[in-house]
Amino acid sequence: MKVAVIGGGVGGAELIRVATPGPLKFTLIEPKRQIEMQALYPEYLGGVARLQELTAPLKPFCERTGTVHVQEKALRLEGNTVVCEKSRVPFDCAVIATGAEQNYFGIKGVENSFSINTLEETKKARRFVEDMNPERIMIMGSGLTGVEAASILAESLDASIYIIEARERVLPLFSPQTSALVEKALSKKGVNILTSTMVCEIKKDCIMFADGTCLDCDMAIWTAGVKPSKFVQDLDLPKKNGWILVDEFLRARDNIFAIGDAAWIEIDGRLATKTGLEAERHAKHVAENLVRLAEGRAMEKYAIRASTDNQVALISLGSDCAVGVVGKMCIGAPTRLIYSLKSWIDKSFIKRFK
Ligand SMILES: Cc1cc2nc3c(=O)[nH]c(=O)nc-3n(C[C@H](O)[C@H](O)[C@H](O)COP(=O)(O)OP(=O)(O)OC[C@H]3O[C@@H](n4cnc5c(N)ncnc54)[C@H](O)[C@@H]3O)c2cc1C
Repeated sequence: MKVAVIGGGVGGAELIRVATPGPLKFTLIEPKRQIEMQALYPEYLGGVARLQELTAPLKPFCERTGTVHVQEKALRLEGNTVVCEKSRVPFDCAVIATGAEQNYFGIKGVENSFSINTLEETKKARRFVEDMNPERIMIMGSGLTGVEAASILAESLDASIYIIEARERVLPLFSPQTSALVEKALSKKGVNILTSTMVCEIKKDCIMFADGTCLDCDMAIWTAGVKPSKFVQDLDLPKKNGWILVDEFLRARDNIFAIGDAAWIEIDGRLATKTGLEAERHAKHVAENLVRLAEGRAMEKYAIRASTDNQVALISLGSDCAVGVVGKMCIGAPTRLIYSLKSWIDKSFIKRFK
């Protein structure tokens, strides 16, 4: 059975790793030459993680797993063919694992800000930190990425770090207890927290707020929100809020699956979070179902682990503090223990592909 995997990030690469060796013949469509681990970008930004620790080359991985790597962008689907920039890839089944893009919500002046959603952008931000030594850094958005970046920068730089959040507390998608614990840890590190503060424009040297006030800054980092890529938007598949809507088998249509950030996964009233943890589990599940299909067996339903109403996460807040969240339970540890565990999990993920 010929399987085309579109996107070789956390979900796409893990799916191939789990399903090989086996009865499936994979073609991976991925424009990059390497697998990249977004969860380690805040550490790279803070100068803590090295480039080799967050990437793994695709060539040896594809050779080992017998995968054909088409190093191009997928443009669209035409029947059972993926149309790429130069090639056409026919498939029996396809898996879309193209992730998500940064969402700027139409804010003016985004060209004056940095993002850490891709490795290229994170490298640019790191170079700016090294070359320009900014004294006032504004991080806009206080989701996982924002709070992790703020704490690591507060710890590693002699700079004033601000975190700006439009809603009334940091980590607004987590429980109030988690937010309180994280706010305490951020304040202890000297991070200035501005909640209920709406950014309306990013200028070269300041941030303008909706109430007409502004704050000077040397560096602005946007981390607030993601959206579906143009590739996903243009696909003629069922959608929810622009994401690919899948059923309980993570299938958008008979032979087309979607996993990771690109997918909208809602099963039994629970909505899966867009996290590496979930993407990895989707990948394993679809890998097993594809093998079942190839062997003429019935597919099994997916069970969500981390959902918006039952968050599961390890949040590192610098190298000496972290918070573990499982549903309503949240454990703050002012020690290296949870931090080391998270760092080890993230680095081990990438090592699997080497
Ligand atoms: C800074 C940051 C920190 C994070 N920290 C954590 C964390 O601590 N814990 C956690 O669980 N999650 C974390 N996440 C979220 C996690 O990284 C994502 O949920 C996960 O990577 C999603 O996996 P994916 O396979 O869907 O997408 P990705 O891993 O983003 O991979 C998508 C791949 O698709 C490729 N692609 C895109 N478009 C096309 C196309 N048209 N054709 C072919 N290929 C294409 C891209 O090049 C990329 O390689 C973090 C995210 C960020 C940005």
